[in-house]
Formats: sequence, C-alpha cells, structure tokens
Amino acid sequence: MYHLLYVSHAKKKFTDGDLTELLIKARKNNSDTNITGMLIHRDGNFIQVLEGEEDAVKKLYGIIEADKRHDGTIVISEGPIPERQFARWAMDFRNYSKNALFTPEEMSNDKYGVLMVLTEFVKTMR
Ligand code: FAD
Repeated sequence: MYHLLYVSHAKKKFTDGDLTELLIKARKNNSDTNITGMLIHRDGNFIQVLEGEEDAVKKLYGIIEADKRHDGTIVISEGPIPERQFARWAMDFRNYSKNALFTPEEMSNDKYGVLMVLTEFVKTMR
C-alpha cells in the first residue's frame, strides 16, 4: 500500500458546483482503480491524500498534476504505508471557508481525517 500527499492552488475560484462535479468524477474513477483518500479545499487551496497500489497512485497523481484547473502542486509526503487510513472513502472531502484553518469544533468533529493530514504535513516542516 502506498500514499501520496500533496498541496496545490486553484487557478480560479471553485464554486460548490465545480467541487461537486470534481468529486463525483473522482469518486467514480477512484472506485474503479481502488484508490482511497481525502481531499480538503479551503479558499482555493487543496490538500489531498491518495492511497492505493503504488502504480495506481502515481498514475493518478500524474493526471491530477496535469489538471489545468490548479497549479503549484507540491508533494509533501509519499511512500509505503502499512494499511489504508481512508478505507471507507473513494475520496473523502472537506470544504473549509472559515478564517481559522480549523476551528476547535471542526477539529473535535473530524479528528481522524484532519489530524491525519496535518500530522503528515507537520512531518515535512522539520
Ligand atoms: P474528463 O473528466 O473527461 O476530463 C478530461 C480532461 O478535461 C482532463 O484533462 C481534465 O483535467 C479536464 N477537465 C475535466 N473537467 C473539467 C472542468 N470542469 N474544467 C476544466 N477542465 C476540466 N480525479 C480523479 O479521478 N481522482 C481524484 O482523486 C482527483 N482529485 C483531484 C483533485 C484536484 C484538486 C483536482 C483539481 C482534480 C482532481 N481530479 C481527480 C481530476 C483529475 O485531475 C482529472 O480531471 C480526472 O481524473 C479526469 O477524469 P476523466 O479521465 O474521466 O476525464
């Protein structure tokens, strides 16, 4: 099992409709290729974790990286993992638009996904 975590910036504003369209397609494609993960959007910034077989993850990341709707993709972390962290989700999604990165309420309601992503992110800050 392999994971890849990256960040990127939307080139233009994603409406709720744009995000829904993206997610419907992502979830269908990811189910077909056995990819799971989480996508977080906040004010035009994306953080996404992809997990699955190494070849499938790298192939999907190549497709996503080439997507002209965003740019500035930076891989924060990638490599083998013992097991999936998002086994139930073809692509879990959070859309945050508040001033704080995460409010205490969001953190307590969503410990699993948010903390996993932030933990991976913080590892890269050493
Ligand atoms: P189509 O949907 O037919 O797309 C063909 C081409 O058109 C692609 O180059 C695509 O980038 C472009 N395109 C599609 N819709 C639009 C649009 N509304 N505006 C402009 N260009 C468009 N895909 C996944 O399968 N799984 C993911 O987890 C995933 N995560 C993503 C995360 C982010 C932040 C972004 C920006 C995109 C993500 N995508 C994801 C979409 C991915 O980049 C491809 O668009 C998608 O996989 C292509 O699907 P398709 O082969 O069915 O082709």
